[in-house]
Amino acid sequence: MSMPPAADHQSDLRLTPTALSQFIRLDACRRFLWFQLHPQATHALQQRYGTHPRPLSPLLAEAGQRFEQEVIRTLATHHRVIELRECAPSETVTALRAVGREPVILTQAALEGCIGGWWLQGRADLIEVVRDRQGGLHALVADIKASREERLEHRVQVALYTLLLEDVSRRAGLPLQRSVGAVVHRDDARAFRTLHDPELHFDLAPYRQLALHLLDGPDAPLAEVRAADLDALPFALGTHCDGCFFNEICLPRAAERADLALIPEVSRPLRAALHAHDIRDLYALADLYMPSGAEAWQPNPRHAARLALLQRDPLLAGQIERLAARARAVLKRLDPTLDAPVLLPDAPPAPLPNRTAYPHLIELLLDLQVDDLTGGVYLAAALVRGPQEERCITRLSAAPPLPELEAALLTEFAQALETALRQVAADDAPPLHLTVYDRRAQRVGAGGLHPPYAAPSVAGGAGRLAGGAAAGASRDLRAAAGDCARSAQPTPDLRLAPCRGYCGLAARGQLRLDHRHA
Ligand code: SF4
Repeated sequence: MSMPPAADHQSDLRLTPTALSQFIRLDACRRFLWFQLHPQATHALQQRYGTHPRPLSPLLAEAGQRFEQEVIRTLATHHRVIELRECAPSETVTALRAVGREPVILTQAALEGCIGGWWLQGRADLIEVVRDRQGGLHALVADIKASREERLEHRVQVALYTLLLEDVSRRAGLPLQRSVGAVVHRDDARAFRTLHDPELHFDLAPYRQLALHLLDGPDAPLAEVRAADLDALPFALGTHCDGCFFNEICLPRAAERADLALIPEVSRPLRAALHAHDIRDLYALADLYMPSGAEAWQPNPRHAARLALLQRDPLLAGQIERLAARARAVLKRLDPTLDAPVLLPDAPPAPLPNRTAYPHLIELLLDLQVDDLTGGVYLAAALVRGPQEERCITRLSAAPPLPELEAALLTEFAQALETALRQVAADDAPPLHLTVYDRRAQRVGAGGLHPPYAAPSVAGGAGRLAGGAAAGASRDLRAAAGDCARSAQPTPDLRLAPCRGYCGLAARGQLRLDHRHA
C-alpha cells in the first residue's frame, strides 16, 4: 500500500502524540496544527516576526519531572522497572520481546509508527507489559501528568501511544493481545494514586476513535490543514493562546492583516458567518457603519443590501453595529487618524468606581496566578490606590508552589496588603472596590478565601484591618470574604458574577469581588 507523504518516516515531519494532545487543549485550533505540519514555513514566520520557540517554563518543567520521578520511584519499590529514556525505538522492541510471565514496567519507551497514514513518534511515560500462558502480551499504557485533574487530551494522548504500540508490535511480529489506558495524576499537591489503582484505568475505545478521527481519512483535520493556506484557517485569539508556542506569530500576523480575530468576541462560528458575507477583515467590518456627526454612527448606504442580509443572519443579527464599532476601535489603535466611537453601542455601564462621588475610596486591583502543574498560587500582585497615593505589591514564588511555599507566599502577600491598605486609607471607614484581573484570578481569589488557606489569604490579610484606621472596610471585607467563601464552590465565577458594579456595592456598603475583562 502506498503511504501518503506524511507517513514517510524519512521526511522532516515529526508529529507527536503530545502535539495532538495540545491541539485538543487549544480548543482544536487548526492553525496550531498547521504550524506543526509545516515546520519550514513556521521557521520562516518565526524569523520574520523575530520570535523563538518558547520552552516550557522551567518552573513547570521542574515540577513535572519531579512528579514523574516520584511516581517511578514508588513503582520501583514493588515492580521491575526498565528505564528507556535514552534508548531508540528498536530497544523498546527488544525490551518487549524479553517480557515473560512477570510484569515489567518500561519507562519513557520510544514508539514510532504509522497511524491513519501519518508517521508519529513519541515516548510513553509508562508501559507495563506481561505475557500470558499462551505467549500473548498485555499492556497497561499510562501517561504521568503533574496536574490535579485528568483531561480529555491526556486520555487521547494515551490512546495514541497504544495505537503506536500496536503498530510497533505488528511490525515486530509481537502478539499484543490487549491494551488498557491510565493517566497517573496528582490527587492533591502531595498525594497520587498508584498505576495499579483500577479507578485510574479507562476503556480506550472512545479515545482511540477520537484520535483516529483527527488522523484518518481525507476529511480529518490533519489532512484538511496540510493542504490549507495558513490565513484561510478559521481561528480566534483567546486566553487559550497564552499557552501556545505560536502566539508570537499569530498576534503580529493578525495585526498586520487587520484580522477579525483581533476582536475578542469574534468566535470561530461568528468569523465563519462574517466570511460567508464576504467580510474578511476589520476594514470591511468597520466600513458597514460610518460617522454622522459627533459620536453618532449610521449604516453606510453603500452597504445597505449587505446590512439587510446581515440583520437576517441568525448568528449576526443584532450584533453588527457593535462589531463594526469594535472593528473601528481596534483599527484606531493601528491608525490613530481613523474615526472611532468612544463608547460602544449597547455597552453596559462601566463598573469602575466614581472618585468624585466617593472621594475616600480605596481601589484594590488584584491578580493571582496559579501554576498549572501544582495548582498552587505562584504570583500574587495588587495595586492599592487611595485618594492621595498608591502602592504596588508583587510576590512571586521562586520554586514550584507546593503547599508550604504557597502558604508562605500568600501570608507574606496578605501582610503587605494589610500594610498598604492602612497606608493609603484616608479615614476610618473607606469604601473599598476590588477588581480582579480576569475570571481565573477571580476563581483563585475566591478559592484563597476557602479553608485551609483562609488564614493567609488575601481577605485574611485585608480582614486584619479590624481595629485599625480602616475598621469599617475590614467589616465589609469580612462580609465579602464570607460571600466569596460560600460562592467558591462549585462555580465561584458564575456565582460572583452578579456582584459586579461599584454602584450596587457602594449603596450596600459591602465589598464585592468584581471582575473586569483584561
Ligand atoms: S496562538 Fe492561538 S490562534 Fe495561534 S495557533 Fe496558538 S492557539 Fe491557535
